[in-house]
Amino acid sequence: MTKIRSIRQTTSDPTSDDLRARVHFCAETGQIWLHEHRMLLIHAETQALLRKELIETLGMNRAKALFTRMGYESGVRDAELVRTRSPNASDMEVFMTGPRLHTLEGVVKVTPVKLEFDRVAGKFYGEFLWENSWEGHWHKRFFGTHNEPVCWTQIGYACGYTSTFMGRQILYKEVECVGMGNSTCRIIGKPIEEWEDANEYTSLFNREAIADLLIDLQTQVVQLRSSIGDTHMQPLDMVGSSPGFLAAYDLLERAANCQISVLLLGETGVGKEMFARALHDRSPRRGAAFVAINCAAIPHDLVEAELFGVEKGSYTGALVSRSGRFERANGGTLFLDEIGDLSLSAQSKLLRVLQEGEIERLGDQKIRKINVRLVAATNADLKQLVKTGKFRADLFYRLNAYQISIPPLRVRKEDIALLAKNFLEKYSATHGKKLRGFTDKAKRALLTYSWPGNIRELQNMIERGVILAPNGSRIEVSHLFSSFGDDTPLEFGLDSNGSLDINSSDAGKSICAAVFNGVMTLNQVETLLLETSVDKARGNLSSAARMLGLTRPQLAYRLKRLNESNESHPDPVQALEGNRAPGRELFE
Ligand SMILES: [Zn+2]
Repeated sequence: MTKIRSIRQTTSDPTSDDLRARVHFCAETGQIWLHEHRMLLIHAETQALLRKELIETLGMNRAKALFTRMGYESGVRDAELVRTRSPNASDMEVFMTGPRLHTLEGVVKVTPVKLEFDRVAGKFYGEFLWENSWEGHWHKRFFGTHNEPVCWTQIGYACGYTSTFMGRQILYKEVECVGMGNSTCRIIGKPIEEWEDANEYTSLFNREAIADLLIDLQTQVVQLRSSIGDTHMQPLDMVGSSPGFLAAYDLLERAANCQISVLLLGETGVGKEMFARALHDRSPRRGAAFVAINCAAIPHDLVEAELFGVEKGSYTGALVSRSGRFERANGGTLFLDEIGDLSLSAQSKLLRVLQEGEIERLGDQKIRKINVRLVAATNADLKQLVKTGKFRADLFYRLNAYQISIPPLRVRKEDIALLAKNFLEKYSATHGKKLRGFTDKAKRALLTYSWPGNIRELQNMIERGVILAPNGSRIEVSHLFSSFGDDTPLEFGLDSNGSLDINSSDAGKSICAAVFNGVMTLNQVETLLLETSVDKARGNLSSAARMLGLTRPQLAYRLKRLNESNESHPDPVQALEGNRAPGRELFE
C-alpha cells in the first residue's frame, strides 16, 4: 500500500513545476489552456456573487448540491491529466496531480496530512489540510459563520478527482472549515460505503430537474386552486354572523356528536348539503364515507335500488348485484336531499332502516346490518304532504325529531358581504384573476338583491363577475347581473346624480320588489318618497307636496308621523350605505 505521512509542497517541487508548464496563456487567441482543457481566469468576487445569488434564489441546500456537482465535474476533468504523467512516476506522485492542480488553479492550498491508498484493492484514506479556501472565505464574508462546512465546490472537486482516480466512489467531508470559524479547512476522504451517513451526501450528486419540479408544483397549485372551498375543506358558504345562521349552526354543532337523524329545512340553494357535510365532518363518523343522493333526481322506480342495492336478476335491468347508497355510507353519513319526493314504498323501507338498522337489497332475502347516520333535507312542507297522504306520518315524526331550519339569504343580509368576499377569493384563485374587490354600486346591488336562488345564486353570480371583470379592476354591477330586466337588482331608481328617479318604471318595479321581498317596509318606501321630494324641492314643502300630489299640510303631517316612527326603523338605504351597515366592512 502506498503511504504518505508528510509531503510538503514547495515552489521548487518538480511535479508542481511540471504542472505549471502545462498552463498556457494565449493572449493572441484569448484562450487559457491547462493541458487540453480551456480554462477561465475569473474574478473570485464575481464567482462569489454568483454563488451568493444562487443561494438566495434556490436556497442553501439546492445551491450546495449545484456547487458540489460543479466542483465534481472539475475534479473529473483534472483527473484526466493523470494519464499525462510520466510512466515512471510513483502512484503517490500521480495522485498528487489533483491536489496540486487545485492549488495551482487558485482554489485552495492543499497539504496532505495522511494518505494511504491501494488502487487495485480499492482501498483509500486521505486527510488533507486546506488553507486559503476561496469558497470558505467568501461564504463567511457574505453569510457569517455557518454551522456546517461550506466549501462545496472544493469538496465536489476532491470527490470527483479521487473517484475518477480510484475508479470507485470516494466521498470527502470537511471536518473543519473556515466557514465554521476554524482557522483552516480539513477534509477526510474514504470509500463511500465507509461513511455511515453516506446517503445524505449521495443525493448531492443527483441532478435535480428544477424546471420539472416547478412544473409539478404549478400543477399542484392549479389543483389546489380548484379544490379551494371543496367539500373537504371548511366550506366557504358555512360562514356567517346573522342570528338565523348562527342559530342553525349551533343546532348543527349540538347534533354532531350524537346519532340522531337530522332534518334540514330550507329553500333551494341555502346550502343544505353543506350543512349535512359539516355535520358529518364534525361527527365521530368523519373518517368514514359521506354519501349524498338527491331523491328528486332519480326516477321513482329506481330510487329503491339506488338506496338499498340490488341483487342480480331481481328485475329486468339488474344484470349484476350491486350495493346501494346505504351500504356505501356504512359507518358514515347518508344525506337524502329532497326527501319529500321519495315514493311511499321507499319511505317504508327507509323507516325500517331507521328503526332496525338493517337493509335488504332488492331481490335478496339476506339481511344486512348497517350503521348509517341519516341526514334528510327538503324544501317542501312535509307536514302538508303528510296531510295529503303523500308522506308517511311515522317517518315524518321520526325525521322531524331534530330539525334545523337554514334561513334564506335574503334574511341573512349581514352575511352577504362575507360570503361574497369568500367567493371572490375562491374564484379569483380558480381563474387566476387579481381583482380589487367590488365597486360601491356592486356592493350595494349585492346587499339589496333578494337572492331567490340563495347562496348558490350568489356563488354563481360572483364567479360570473370574476370571469367578466378585467384583471386588476373591481367587479361592477354589469359583471354580476346578466341583464337589466326583472332580475336587475334593486337600485331604487337612482339617477346619475344619485337621486331617486321616481318617474322610471324600472324604479317602480324595484320598489315593489323591495317591499315584496321584505327588503323595505311600506313605511320606508314612503319615507324615501317624502324625503326625496323634499330634497328635490330644496326644502320647499309646498313644491315637494305638489310633486307628490299632496297638499302642504298633508305632507307636513306625514313627515311628522314618519319621523316619529323612523326612530325605531332606520332608513334602509342609510343602513346599507352607512358604516354601521352589517358586514359592510368585510368587503374592504
Ligand atoms: Zn471549508
